[in-house]
Amino acid sequence: MVLGTYKEALSARATDSKIQKVAQDGGIASALLIHALEEGIIEGAVVAGDPNDDWAPYPQVATNADEVLQAAGTKYSMSPNVFGIKEAARQFGLEKIGTVVVPCQMQGIRKAQAYPFSIRFIGDKIKLLIGIFCMENFPMASLDTFSEAMMDSSLNDVKKMDIGKGKFRINTTDGTKDIPLKKTHGYEQSGCNICNDYVAEWSDVSTGSVGSPDGWSTVLTRTDNGVDLFTSAVDVGLIETKPIEEVKPGLPLLEKLAKGKKDKSKKEIERRTKMGIPTPVLY
Ligand code: FAD
Ligand code: SF4
Repeated sequence: MVLGTYKEALSARATDSKIQKVAQDGGIASALLIHALEEGIIEGAVVAGDPNDDWAPYPQVATNADEVLQAAGTKYSMSPNVFGIKEAARQFGLEKIGTVVVPCQMQGIRKAQAYPFSIRFIGDKIKLLIGIFCMENFPMASLDTFSEAMMDSSLNDVKKMDIGKGKFRINTTDGTKDIPLKKTHGYEQSGCNICNDYVAEWSDVSTGSVGSPDGWSTVLTRTDNGVDLFTSAVDVGLIETKPIEEVKPGLPLLEKLAKGKKDKSKKEIERRTKMGIPTPVLY
């Protein structure tokens, strides 16, 4: 299964206009965190904030809806949210913690829960893991380069960044600008080239834009906890859904991209192994 194990696949979006206004896609990550906080499933969530307004994400512990919304939207550089989990437990004293992470971080968290060296007593406090789809991530210096040298804009003027339909796009005070992804590939974190998980296969709930129309998200519920939270958010009207079979491009595109990532990773691991470079054994 190229999408990992999941219980249900849906297209969905948050119904609250406050969430829609700040969300990257359908606002599912923020809506689920807010609902989990309101229901007492978590006491706080580690999210990727942008404290200096310069697109350099930093893990922040959100304990209410306003703080969740302040951190909404995608930052295309690594936010060390796994580190933030320790802070949430030790500095904030939280017993029930949620977070949003990219697939490689999700793998690390699940591994740490299974083998809790150096995070003793913390794994059990993690009650909600929302995974976001991820094809690549960029160092901040790369984002600076795209913005300044390729799109003639300062990151400080960027209101939103997005990747989709083969382009890296920014919304700035001067309007929307974009460059083809073939120009940005060389600037990705090199680890992303051997990453084999596009859809955060180890999450409670995974979500991303691919597969659903603009303003909606594709959602894969994976664990019982994930299903219960998602269903409850739909029942109270915080999230609306459509059958994934009824939207375009739907799951076939997601499956194609997930398989493409696994194939590319395998090829790159073989290439690096032949060169004598140590690589993780993923297959
Ligand atoms: P929102 O309600 O806007 O909330 C987003 C949540 O993600 C917030 O809690 C925010 O703090 C957190 N967040 C933002 N940036 C990061 C980060 N760098 N690390 C960890 N958490 C973060 N989707 C696809 O469909 N295809 C892709 O190829 C794809 N690539 C991505 C690459 C990266 C590096 C990242 C960070 C995301 C990518 N996504 C991709 C996911 C997509 O951009 C949205 O984040 C996702 O659809 C959630 O949108 P939302 O409206 O539900 O979330
Ligand atoms: Fe992590 Fe993989 Fe995304 Fe790179 S592509 S940031 S390694 S999940």
